[in-house]
Amino acid sequence: MGDSVAKENEKSTAERERDAEKAGAELLAATQRVIKEALDKLGYPEQVYELLEEPIRVLTVRIPVRMDDGSVKVFTGYRAQHNDAVGPTKGGVRFHPDVTLDEVKALSIWMSIKCGIMDLPYGGGKGAIKCDPRKMSFRELERLSRGYVRAISQIVGPAKDIPAPDVYTNSQIMAWMMDEYSRIREFDSPAFITGKPLVLGGSRGRETATAKGVTICIREAAKKRGINLEGARVIVQGFGNAGGYLAKFMHDAGAKVIAISDAYGALYDPNGLDIDYLLDRRDSFGTVTPLFKNTITNKEMLELDCDILVPAAVANQITKENAPNIKAKIIVEAANGPTTYEATKILTERGILLVPDVLASAGGVTVSYFEWVQNNQGYYWSEEEVERKLEEMMVRAFENVYQTAQSRKVDMRLAAYMVGVRKMAEAARFRGWV
Ligand code: GLU
Repeated sequence: MGDSVAKENEKSTAERERDAEKAGAELLAATQRVIKEALDKLGYPEQVYELLEEPIRVLTVRIPVRMDDGSVKVFTGYRAQHNDAVGPTKGGVRFHPDVTLDEVKALSIWMSIKCGIMDLPYGGGKGAIKCDPRKMSFRELERLSRGYVRAISQIVGPAKDIPAPDVYTNSQIMAWMMDEYSRIREFDSPAFITGKPLVLGGSRGRETATAKGVTICIREAAKKRGINLEGARVIVQGFGNAGGYLAKFMHDAGAKVIAISDAYGALYDPNGLDIDYLLDRRDSFGTVTPLFKNTITNKEMLELDCDILVPAAVANQITKENAPNIKAKIIVEAANGPTTYEATKILTERGILLVPDVLASAGGVTVSYFEWVQNNQGYYWSEEEVERKLEEMMVRAFENVYQTAQSRKVDMRLAAYMVGVRKMAEAARFRGWV
């Protein structure tokens, strides 16, 4: 077991909750700070910031669940809707023991920015349930998922707020949620949620979409820095949906994936890891390192010499403490919020090209949008069509953010927020809200 997890286990529940609250509050504050900077750069008046600094709607729910042993456990869930000036809100639902309301609020704001950058007709939303799905049975997870939908059903819907998968949720959970919503509304409602299994109206290419989008960003960023992907040394933190597929795509593109990690530790081989073998051995939560003796910590891994570093796990991994030691030439954020505000500044000053989460990880919500369009049309596209459209939109978004960073002389994160916030601010203005 990795040292970070061992240390976490030593902490009391109260300590963990306090740490999580603090981390969530910091994420929200950092997000608000960049929103403010972006709006100031674009010359919007103060009231636009007042509208966008917090979600327009937040719901906290208590969900009683009958556990397999007959007892009842009550879980806390959240749904935050950041802004619906552009259209219905959209964003995933995460299942995580450390999730906090502030974190969910920050995540909902990031979804707004992602949708703005990709020019999707949505505002941002996000949901979460405070639970540890790794310690729950299949049936308990089903009851929890259905209970969550019953609790939030008033404020969600295909033209209101459309959930999707996120950390520790998957297509099976989306299927239960879609079924529960359809029962409540008394008609089949596939467009209520995205990331569904194909047979229930899921889109071809949704499963790999986040990793595909990250791959496109890596390719474009490498071009800008004159790095040849063939033989480039890549480190991927996280081996779940995004990290796992990404490691595979990088490996297939001829890059050398020299390190990967999960929540328990990291594997490192300067000659390149056997990604297909590792993918074969990982469990459904992306865990694989406990099977090996020679592991290093996540912290050590981030500071290894490499060309491209892809944080694809959780928030707050690159901080002002380790940013000066990062050796990568390009960082592409596949996770939400892996780099802190201060670390972004340090890395940019050091000349490292940082492709921010709100751009790099937007492939997922983009194909979710395709899924929703297909559900509304009742007409389904081929994988080639999905991939062609994703490619086109990602390249356009990357170029837009890159050029904004160059011309306005700002870092890529601020540039991404400037691009992402503009449509929302304009839509709110036209509606007469600000
Ligand atoms: N959870 C993903 C994200 O953070 C996807 C959201 C969606 O597909 O709506 O971007």
